[in-house]
Amino acid sequence: MFKIINKQILRQVASLLHRSQSTLVIAEHTNEKLTPITLNAITAASKLGGEVSCLVAGTDCAKVAEELSKVQGVKKVLVAQHAAYKGSLPEELTPLILATQQQFSFTHICAGASAFGKSLLPRVAAKLDVAPVSDIIAIKSPDTFVRTIYAGNALCTVKCNEKVKVFTVRGTSFEAALTTGGSATSEQVSTPAPVGMSEWLGQNLTKSDRPELTSAKVVVSGGRGLKSGDNFKLLYDLADQMHAAVGASRAAVDAGFVPNDMQVGQTGKIVAPELYIAVGISGAIQHLAGMKDSKTIVAINKDPEAPIFQVADYGLVADLFKAVPEMTELLKKK
Ligand SMILES: Cc1cc2nc3c(=O)[nH]c(=O)nc-3n(C[C@H](O)[C@H](O)[C@H](O)COP(=O)(O)OP(=O)(O)OC[C@H]3O[C@@H](n4cnc5c(N)ncnc54)[C@H](O)[C@@H]3O)c2cc1C
Repeated sequence: MFKIINKQILRQVASLLHRSQSTLVIAEHTNEKLTPITLNAITAASKLGGEVSCLVAGTDCAKVAEELSKVQGVKKVLVAQHAAYKGSLPEELTPLILATQQQFSFTHICAGASAFGKSLLPRVAAKLDVAPVSDIIAIKSPDTFVRTIYAGNALCTVKCNEKVKVFTVRGTSFEAALTTGGSATSEQVSTPAPVGMSEWLGQNLTKSDRPELTSAKVVVSGGRGLKSGDNFKLLYDLADQMHAAVGASRAAVDAGFVPNDMQVGQTGKIVAPELYIAVGISGAIQHLAGMKDSKTIVAINKDPEAPIFQVADYGLVADLFKAVPEMTELLKKK
C-alpha cells in the first residue's frame, strides 16, 4: 500500500514538473523563411512538457513570426527586430537572449544543432554560467538527454543539473513540427543596445537547383572511388532523375573533387534521408556518423569487403563507372 501511494505521488510530482517547464526555441531563419531545423527543435522542446516559446530575431522578420505562429506546439512567438540582427551574429543575439531570459525565466533554451545554433548557444550558456548540452538525439526527461560520442559509436545519457538547460538539437533525430494548425500569440520584445563588436558584411551562398543536402529525401553521395571532380557528373545525372541532393565523403572533398559544403559525416553534415546511395565510399566510421540513420542505405562499391556493406540495406558489388550510368538510363526510361 505504502509503495502504491509513493508511486502515485512520484507520478504527480513528475507531471507537475513537466507542466512547470517552459522552453525558448531560438528560431533560425532568413528573414523571409524559417530554416527547417527550427521545426525539429520545436518538436524536441514539446517533448519537455510545458510551454514552448520561439524567439525570432531579425531585421525584417514579420513573415517568419507569422509562419511560426501557425506551427503546432508553439504557444508564444517573441519578435525582436533591429538592424544589429543582420546576419544573426552571436555577439548581437546573445544579449537579446539574455534579456529575454531575464524577463521570462525559461527552464530550457534550445536551437537546432546547425552552424547557427552551434555558434550561438555555447555563448549564451557561458554568459548564463551553465554547461550546454550539444547535439542531443533524444530526451529522457526534462533534465536528461541522449547524445552521441565517439563518432556515433556510443550513446551517452547526460543528466543536466544546471538551473537553465541550454542545448542544441540534432535535426534528423526529431520529426519536424507541423506547420499548420497552431495559434501562437505574438509579442514584441525590447532589444538591448547593439554591442557593435563585429559587423556582418555579406555571404556567398552556393546556388543549386537540387534539394538542400540536410533536408533532401534522397541523397546520392560520392567518395574517392569517383577519382575526379569531373566524374561527379555521373552522380549529378543520377541525382537529377531522382530529385536528389548530392553529398560526398571527406576524402572526395579533401582531394578537391567537390566543395566542402557537400561533406557528409562526423565533421560534415548529418543527413537522414529516406534513401541514401553511397557510391565509391568505403564506409569509414566518420562517414557513417553522418548518414547511418538514413531509412534505406544503398551502397555501390567494387570491393565486396568494403565496410559500407555492413550498414547497407542493399549492396551492389560493381564498378561504379558502369553501374551508375546504367541506373541513370533506366530511370530516364521510366
Ligand atoms: C577526425 C576525422 C574526421 C573525419 N570526418 C569525416 C567526415 O565527416 N566524413 C567522411 O566521409 N570522412 C571523414 N573522415 C575521413 C574518413 O576516416 C575516411 O578517410 C573517408 O570517409 C574515406 O572516404 P572514401 O570512402 O571516399 O575513400 P576510401 O576510403 O578511399 O574509399 C573509396 C572506396 O571506393 C571504392 N572504389 C574505388 N573505385 C571504385 C569503382 N570504380 N567502383 C566502385 N567502387 C570503387 C573502393 O573500393 C573504396 O571502398 C574523418 C577522419 C577523421 C580522422
